[in-house]
Amino acid sequence: MDYFKRFENVPAVREIFGEMTKKVLESLQVEFFSSRFGFMGVSDEDGHLLISSFCLKDGNLRDLYLDVIHELVHVRQFEEGKELFDESVEYVDRPTEVEAYKQAVAEARRLGMTDDEMVEYLKVTWLDEDDIRRLAKNVDVNVARKPSRGRRARIS
Ligand SMILES: [Zn+2]
Repeated sequence: MDYFKRFENVPAVREIFGEMTKKVLESLQVEFFSSRFGFMGVSDEDGHLLISSFCLKDGNLRDLYLDVIHELVHVRQFEEGKELFDESVEYVDRPTEVEAYKQAVAEARRLGMTDDEMVEYLKVTWLDEDDIRRLAKNVDVNVARKPSRGRRARIS
């Protein structure tokens, strides 16, 4: 509520937390850290949000917004007692990731992003082409052309 003003009124955020939106956001701690590699994540110890100040400074505003939506889904999953980083399932197939990406993709569509733009959004540095295709398929994004290597380290 201090750093992401009025997010409690954003419909996409209210979709994630429902009636609990204000209460969850009021108590959600945000930790900004300095890293050359920008990313966002949610602590699997206490569910607080971690944001690289590097990524806030250099990131595209629309992508950052979608990243926050993605991470807020993880915040809810943590509160539901779900294991966020189940290493027994690959990142692109992990149910917690697929759910978080689906929420971000739904909001991306609402913002008018095309499937091509969403594929670009899905490219993160640790994913290869096959991973990106699989992730896109898992979240119902159509890959029209061969995706190139991801260039951004962003979220987890
Ligand atoms: Zn994630």
